[in-house]
Amino acid sequence: MRQVYPNIFQIKIPLRGNPLKELNCHIVKGERRNLIIDTGFNQPEGRALLLAALEQAGCAPDDTDIFITHLHVDHSGLVGAVKTERNRAYASAYDAAAINGTFHLVPEAGEALKKNPRYEMMGFTEQDGDVGGSHPALRNRVEREIDFTAVAEGDRIDLGGFCFEVVEFPGHTPGLVGLYERSRKILFPGDHILGKITPNITFWNFDFDALGVYIQSLRKARAMAVDYLFAAHRFYVEDHVVRVNQLLAHHDRRLLEVRELIKREAKTAYEVAAGMQWDFGGGNFLDFPVAQKFFAAGEAMAHLEHLVFLCEAERLQQGQILYYKML
Ligand SMILES: [Zn+2]
Repeated sequence: MRQVYPNIFQIKIPLRGNPLKELNCHIVKGERRNLIIDTGFNQPEGRALLLAALEQAGCAPDDTDIFITHLHVDHSGLVGAVKTERNRAYASAYDAAAINGTFHLVPEAGEALKKNPRYEMMGFTEQDGDVGGSHPALRNRVEREIDFTAVAEGDRIDLGGFCFEVVEFPGHTPGLVGLYERSRKILFPGDHILGKITPNITFWNFDFDALGVYIQSLRKARAMAVDYLFAAHRFYVEDHVVRVNQLLAHHDRRLLEVRELIKREAKTAYEVAAGMQWDFGGGNFLDFPVAQKFFAAGEAMAHLEHLVFLCEAERLQQGQILYYKML
């Protein structure tokens, strides 16, 4: 545990089996209440670290509320370790419902990626094989349903000494929320802005232009006055304006790449992903393990759907498979 600002502590929770390696969990010590911001995978090492840190910081769980920036299990998995009958767990209504919704997923249904309707829709075939194992949303998740307190834009969480405002930054997930301490210019953006890592933007549903919404949320964050940006993974961000501009430029380049790929012929998300540049797994999509391919195709699809929202491309359907082409 290290103090990163007076009365704000960072605990690096290890994420076993995840390339992000660790989550930056934060504890804010207020005069009346304390607040934990994001938790980590539900794994024994992380659980022990978090509970030890709370004790070391002198924060009794009943006096300490929990703020979950978004539904992903590396943020929400340990909320059950610290939620009591007398404290609150805050999250957006969408992400809170999604976290509790995993308890209604039948594990068998999640076991085979091939059974995911998106598998065929994005252009995967039998030859790509299967992931095996359980659905990622079921691994390392919180052990029980949580009685969340829903928060939305402008809500205040006053700890005494620190007064946070809830800021909505949809994109990385539909309900991602950050916390802003206006008088101290402190921002906890969850995974909305990360240092050196490009947050994953993926396809959620046909009504949600994830990339378009994410770009708007980046501009919203850029316009805020921020001196301390406590990102949720690995590196903090020194200058958020520089970082936001890098992320915007990254997606501009990606969109140019995708436009070029579907200029002459209609392609599936799978085919588009195969033509894109990747900086992981050796860079060649066709050599990726199937789970990594699925992740890359989801990102390609978010860019394709954004072009449909912009009325630059059209979506064509043949059987269960979707193709995209520039208009
Ligand atoms: Zn995330």
